[in-house]
Amino acid sequence: MDISVTKNPAPKAKPDWKNLGFGEYFTDHMFMMDYATGKGWHDARIIPYGPLTMEPSAMVLHYAVEVFEGMKAYTCADGKIRLFRPLENAARLNRSAARFCMPPIPTEDFLTAICRLIRLDQDWVPKEEGTSLYIRPFMYSDQSNVGVRLPDLFKFVVILSPVGAYYKEGLNPVSIYVEDEYVRAARGGTGFTKCGGNYAASLIAQKKAKDLGYTQVLWLDGAERKYIEEVGTMNVMFKIGGEIVAPELGDSVLPGVTRNSALILLKSWGYKVAERKISVDELRDAAESGRLEEAFGTGTAAVISPIGLFNIQGKKLRVRDGKIGPVAQKLYDTITGIQWGTLPDTFGWTQEIN
Ligand SMILES: *Cc1c(COP(=O)(O)O)cnc(C)c1O
Repeated sequence: MDISVTKNPAPKAKPDWKNLGFGEYFTDHMFMMDYATGKGWHDARIIPYGPLTMEPSAMVLHYAVEVFEGMKAYTCADGKIRLFRPLENAARLNRSAARFCMPPIPTEDFLTAICRLIRLDQDWVPKEEGTSLYIRPFMYSDQSNVGVRLPDLFKFVVILSPVGAYYKEGLNPVSIYVEDEYVRAARGGTGFTKCGGNYAASLIAQKKAKDLGYTQVLWLDGAERKYIEEVGTMNVMFKIGGEIVAPELGDSVLPGVTRNSALILLKSWGYKVAERKISVDELRDAAESGRLEEAFGTGTAAVISPIGLFNIQGKKLRVRDGKIGPVAQKLYDTITGIQWGTLPDTFGWTQEIN
């Protein structure tokens, strides 16, 4: 893949590295390439970060023809910039794309686009403790057509955002509202993809949880609203009676890279790990009988997010008195240690940008 580079003639002032927040600042450049049926991907380019122009009839605006990824680059202890398991994101983007009849991106090209863009904007990769560079690749159709049809034209874009430490003072447990009215995903649907529409449809439940004083929503299965699927934008795990239980993946659960990494680590530490169906009744019984030892979410943004409180049909159940447990803490320390290069990368998960 040949990439043409047009440098930004007016680079922005850098943000205050100590107050980055999440997804508020964007770097000076972006990657873009076009796809047309019959021609394939073409015109790979790095250009100044700026507005995208499209016709009001662009299909993405009407039918949400869009999928995305979320991943991070880190300035490591040795000063080098590394990605965490980027091939997993490349594969997942293509699985999302396939569900929406979008063309795949060759893994090589996905990685090259990201590495070249980060290299050019490397002064934007924050170095403060706990910070990282969030990478947002996305694909959409800007084809002009208000008929519901298979598009022939797509764009793939990558933008970068320096983000702050998720936790400013320790890992604060979150409170979770178990949502039994709205559903996120159903069998045969798009739950396993990162498509924009999934998140648009989840906002109403997020608002409801927030209005009731909860941080996040826990989603139940779409058919029976009985089995636990995931939390907001994180996968979820429990420690019940000594065993780690992770809701099994199906096509209604997003297969998180952090979830997969956590399960690999837990098995390597000798924990009994079960990926299976877990009902909300089982969770309630475990909490009430004192067998629920830990509950936490896993995802790229926060890495590990301990859960201190569940609201199940109006009933409040506290976990560990609202404090983080040792398994969640060890997972957080290990995964971030590997990401920031302060612990050995025994599984070969990190990749230096080239
Ligand atoms: C992105 C995401 C996750 C976490 O995936 P990671 O690869 O670990 O970041 C979990 N659930 C949903 C709905 C997501 O969008």
